[in-house]
Amino acid sequence: MDSLIHNIHLATMTGEGYGEIMDAALLVRAGRIAWLGPQVDLPADIGPVERIDGRGGWLTPGLIDCHTHLVFGGNRAHEWEMRLNGATYEDIARMGGGIRSTVRATREASEDQLFISALGRLDRLLADGVTTVEIKSGYGLDLENERKMLRVARRLALARGITVRTTYLAAHALPPEFDGRADAYIDACIEWMGVLNSEGLIDAVDAFCETIGFSPAQTEKLFTAAKSLGLPVKLHAEQLSDQGGSGLVARFGGLSADHIEWLNETDIAAMKASGTVAVLLPAAFYCLRETKVPPIAALRAAGVPMAVSTDCNPGTAPVTSLLATLNMACTLFRLTPQEALKGVTLNAAKALGIADQTGSLEVGKRADLALWQISRPAELCYWLGAAPLVRSWQSGNQ
Ligand SMILES: [Zn+2]
Repeated sequence: MDSLIHNIHLATMTGEGYGEIMDAALLVRAGRIAWLGPQVDLPADIGPVERIDGRGGWLTPGLIDCHTHLVFGGNRAHEWEMRLNGATYEDIARMGGGIRSTVRATREASEDQLFISALGRLDRLLADGVTTVEIKSGYGLDLENERKMLRVARRLALARGITVRTTYLAAHALPPEFDGRADAYIDACIEWMGVLNSEGLIDAVDAFCETIGFSPAQTEKLFTAAKSLGLPVKLHAEQLSDQGGSGLVARFGGLSADHIEWLNETDIAAMKASGTVAVLLPAAFYCLRETKVPPIAALRAAGVPMAVSTDCNPGTAPVTSLLATLNMACTLFRLTPQEALKGVTLNAAKALGIADQTGSLEVGKRADLALWQISRPAELCYWLGAAPLVRSWQSGNQ
């Protein structure tokens, strides 16, 4: 049945500021936003609807976590504890730790095991009002196991009735069987990409462009192949050094450059020109105790849209709260609460190429909604550890 949510304030996330409408109502028809505005302006002839009293709360777009590695086997708590007990990076590498331990655990896990562990993490995100999640592969690093991860991502969407956008990230790390043969591995990634794309498992393509990852030339080869399949690209770029990866992704008209602590001015201009979103990942910055902050003021001055995401992963960001990440974006990166909230709504939708469907409260968009018991939108960024969500809807369904 269609529904009318009334006795609410709206943060539409359109225009300047939060796009606030006080003492408002919002009408949902067939899963889409059919009307919104001040309650006094509500048309009299809306017909029979389910009336939902928002009790003076705030309604925002459902939140979007646009960069996660939510599907993985095992976790790295043991290594984390070892490091805090004084073990060096070399000690941990010698015992087969780091990303390779996650690759091993992911390969060993069955599809059902991966699904169950990821579902627990997904439910934590949903408790923070998330209605759309991006999920990357990248711990399988061979055809069979990359497929397994992407299939789990698709199953998660069905299990919880939410939107999941899948990203193919085989070029995340070099698997042991390709030691010393990174070029050959990129060729294999390209071959698997064709197969998995034909199975409908890939929405976008990503890589880790870094001195300890893949070179700009290798990334470009992967992107060229992605483009020939009509797949949009995005990139883990400029996290630890300036490789010019953000400029590269902009040249391909890519959706987003993610991390970008070491982003340079030239590439900021390139991102602005191509409409590439800057995805900020303050939780990884926090967990790694980094000190180099992304060039927020320059991005702001250039008008590059900024998104914020958890980067949920077992190595550098074991984080399953997008609201906590909002707080980190404000505290560590000095985003304004309005910028941070736009970063998990409209700009996160842009980073996934779905801003025409979701990410703001506008007539015609999907009724992806979150109702909060808060007194002002900034509270979503202000608290650490609060649980202000009253309920959420995906396409109008609770
Ligand atoms: Zn990542």
